[in-house]
Amino acid sequence: MRATIMHKAGDVRIENVPDAAILHSTDALIRVVRACICGSDLWPYNDKPAEGPSQPMGHEAIGRVEAIGSDVQRIKVGDLVIMPFAYSDGSCMFCDEGLQTSCKHGGFFGQPDPGGAQAEALRIPQADGTLYPINATDDDALMASLLTLSDVMGTGHHAALMAKAGPGKVTAVIGDGAVGLCGVIAAKRLGAEQIIILGRHDARIALAKAFGATDVVSERGEEAIARVIALTGGQGAASVLECVGAEGAMETAIGIARPGGAIGRVGVPHYGSVAGGMRGFYQNITIAGGPAPVRAYIDELLPDILEGKIQPGRVFDRTVGLDGVPDGYLAMNKREALKVMVRP
Ligand SMILES: [Zn+2]
Repeated sequence: MRATIMHKAGDVRIENVPDAAILHSTDALIRVVRACICGSDLWPYNDKPAEGPSQPMGHEAIGRVEAIGSDVQRIKVGDLVIMPFAYSDGSCMFCDEGLQTSCKHGGFFGQPDPGGAQAEALRIPQADGTLYPINATDDDALMASLLTLSDVMGTGHHAALMAKAGPGKVTAVIGDGAVGLCGVIAAKRLGAEQIIILGRHDARIALAKAFGATDVVSERGEEAIARVIALTGGQGAASVLECVGAEGAMETAIGIARPGGAIGRVGVPHYGSVAGGMRGFYQNITIAGGPAPVRAYIDELLPDILEGKIQPGRVFDRTVGLDGVPDGYLAMNKREALKVMVRP
């Protein structure tokens, strides 16, 4: 079968690899109907060293179940399923608590084991706990939005929850990528009224406004902090969604959080320790977040998509086949595309 393999920075290829197959009795095999390229895929695209093993790419998908292992009971052959970016057994103490990304028998897609979703097919470990069957056709008009439940919409929701976004709370969202934009949707959905987007790309800002952002801050660093403070009556934001993962973004988050505020960080951190520790301490700022347990959020978010209340699928602005995936990485890296959908 054909799959996307990252060899080193800037070198991502479509290659012939051994067919995905059932290995364990709890596995399922899916034919990938939709996948996509994630902002976090751009980190290895920019800095993966030439040494070390190559990496199968892709951790977001909707698929059609082609086969199941002998112990799979809930998932059936023929089901159309959302594949969260982490697999999980659905039965351990952390899964019970809704923290499937810490599952005792879990792990992440887009690794040599179990493989990546930017491919024709994929083995799904712990199929019963991982996959979420949906009623839709392969060409459903809602497919783009449904695909965001695999990662970015659930991740934006997680950022908003960790930042304690809600009615009457000023919310700031750092980052105008797909996760940041979904963070705007999530904050609005949870009742936030003033939502400040920190970003600088015109098309993305326009989308942020369509999703509910009320103020735009395009400055960076200290200037950005001063602008947010000014926009919030000198207090800062009660809820800050950090959707980038860069050290500077975290510094900004600490700088714009009001005393007693909360930061929800969901950008994969590209820093060793959290910046701004002194201000964070003296102003009693909560720093929370991590990989979103998106599996836990599908129950809550899916009805809003089906009813048309939220349209996170608008973050996709380009669609490619597998052969177009390398160009998709290039386009996202050059900020010519916001988020690229893949139809294998
Ligand atoms: Zn578990």
